[in-house]
Amino acid sequence: MNRRTLLKSAGLLPLVAAADSMAAPAAARKRSVRFAYIGDTHITAETKPMEHVAKCFHHLQNQADKPAFILHGGDTIMDALGQDRDKVQKQWDAWNTVVKADNSLPIEYCIGNHDVWGYEQAKTDPQYGKKWALDQMKLNERYRSFDRNGWHFIVLDSVQLTPENKWYTGHIDPEQLAWLKADLAKTNSKTPILLMSHIPIVSATVFYDKSNIKNGNWQIPGSWNHTDAAELIELFYQYPNVKTALSGHMHLLDRVDYNGVAYMCNGAVSGNWWTNDTYHQTKAGYALMDLYDDGTVERTYLQYI
Ligand SMILES: [Zn+2]
Repeated sequence: MNRRTLLKSAGLLPLVAAADSMAAPAAARKRSVRFAYIGDTHITAETKPMEHVAKCFHHLQNQADKPAFILHGGDTIMDALGQDRDKVQKQWDAWNTVVKADNSLPIEYCIGNHDVWGYEQAKTDPQYGKKWALDQMKLNERYRSFDRNGWHFIVLDSVQLTPENKWYTGHIDPEQLAWLKADLAKTNSKTPILLMSHIPIVSATVFYDKSNIKNGNWQIPGSWNHTDAAELIELFYQYPNVKTALSGHMHLLDRVDYNGVAYMCNGAVSGNWWTNDTYHQTKAGYALMDLYDDGTVERTYLQYI
């Protein structure tokens, strides 16, 4: 017998008050999991990036309320897109050195544009393209989903290279879209869903640069925001259990609540690619993410230096 039944049977519960008490108070939600979001670490073998990434790992692991794991939003290394094998190897070595020495939490990775090896002379190398990054991240697939603490996590590969592999735009390819539709369809409609894409699907950060107003019109680069945003917004609208979509890439911090989805761009550990601790209005940092059993999500963005 619960408290309400007990009060009712004892005749102690006035009917009007009972109706009010049926509305679940916000405090009734329970936290499902706390994890740390880090992204755009852009590590190189130089002192500052290595020391600062190490500091970031210590900062998040020293929290009194500890995160259970780390989600890396992509751009782990400074750049592989136009670098030869030796330069890319040095960056991955720097990353692995810091992870080994300064981190004991499991890391779930998402691939970023700078993680992709696009060096022209390496076209015939078996690790060309996304393969090398996936090897480093110990992933079999460039996109995937998994369940954790009552939430369903979907990690997308939003980086699609242009035919010459010199540049990229943000969207998911037809094969990945078909997989995403099937994955959403088979997920229990009561299970809240978190999406992770390196490039934002919906973001206010794209408005920071007025040089993208041309002839009185905004022209948002396809490398900044998913070019298939309209299609994905429609798709998510069919699944009210899609609760949040995280991104990195812009090195800026925002939260856009749209159609019940909290789209959050999560700054950057590297700030302004290590040249400055602030990029426009966003400080270098990482986020603690709290996911709740009612599908709500809270973010705490922290500076670690
Ligand atoms: Zn980046």
